[in-house]
Amino acid sequence: MKYLTPGPIQLPDFVIKAMYRQPAFHRSEEFKQSLKSVLDRISKVYSGTPVIMPGTGTLAVDTMVYNYVNPGDRVLSIVFGEFGKRLTASLRSRGAEVYEWEVQRPPEPEEVDDKIRKMGEVKAVALVHNETSMGIAYKQLAKVADVVKSHGALLLVDSVSGMPAEPLPPGIDVVATASHKAFMAPPGAAILFLNAEPAARSGVPPAMDLKGYLKVPSTLDTPYTPPISVIYALEASLEYILGLGLERYVEMHRERMDLLYGSVKLKPVPEPRFRSNTVAAFFVNDVKSALKSLRDAGYVASAGMGPYKDKVVRVGVMGDVTREDILKVAEVLNNVA
Ligand code: PLP
Repeated sequence: MKYLTPGPIQLPDFVIKAMYRQPAFHRSEEFKQSLKSVLDRISKVYSGTPVIMPGTGTLAVDTMVYNYVNPGDRVLSIVFGEFGKRLTASLRSRGAEVYEWEVQRPPEPEEVDDKIRKMGEVKAVALVHNETSMGIAYKQLAKVADVVKSHGALLLVDSVSGMPAEPLPPGIDVVATASHKAFMAPPGAAILFLNAEPAARSGVPPAMDLKGYLKVPSTLDTPYTPPISVIYALEASLEYILGLGLERYVEMHRERMDLLYGSVKLKPVPEPRFRSNTVAAFFVNDVKSALKSLRDAGYVASAGMGPYKDKVVRVGVMGDVTREDILKVAEVLNNVA
């Protein structure tokens, strides 16, 4: 069975093999070497202080929210899918005064500018870079980041399923992501990149408090037990990604998507200009039978989410995915249409 899902993804054998060892004691020199090589490598993927902590993508997002938003802060949350809604829920659980802006597609930078002007002062703008539930990516984030900065607000980005296969302009204040999607490692590490000082005054649970993580790149001393086996996996996957080159890695995913969208005759969910590089989404008449046919052919894909649960099939192209896999999945989907 091969996993062409939105994640966790089909891992290459070399990543699985990298984990097949006794996890070293996390205070040992041996482990610190591995941690150092992962932090050095991941710093080439994105700007800012990298944070790797045990946890899920949701934990990375909640950690971003709790460390950069205080109760009562006014926050604009741009929502074009289920993970945007979850981001809003996280902000609300922090006690922020959230203005949820639900849209059908990622808004243009001018629209974001307009919205912030109408709201008056905002502390932060929060959004999802790659909306996994819809197969939609926010392609205009460089300009959106400029707009948000011009209003003196922080930009908080969930890129759990985007980075590093979907380009992200450098310098975004905070990016939350995770090990188990385009980073090509198993679940277990919440990953953040900090380009701004944490702003929380209080109320951050100790395990999520980023202050304890700021010095890790220099001391290599983690505040709590790190996800050691996942760090071994990231050592291998980052070596591969950087060896290929970040631009080529992005391009490789784009080519896979072009092949998939070019071969499947079903109606796509996203307009071509918003297509994610990592997750595709198609409308089907019978989701259950489409997923069963895929399974019978040796592939696991995913249903849609929220209102699209019974209408959409999602196919991920991250990890160990070949041209043949994509053509086979397309052939099966074309037969269930
Ligand atoms: N945000 C996005 C955009 C995601 O795609 C996901 C998972 O699919 C999450 C957050 C949550 O990640 P996790 O399931 O690891 O908590």
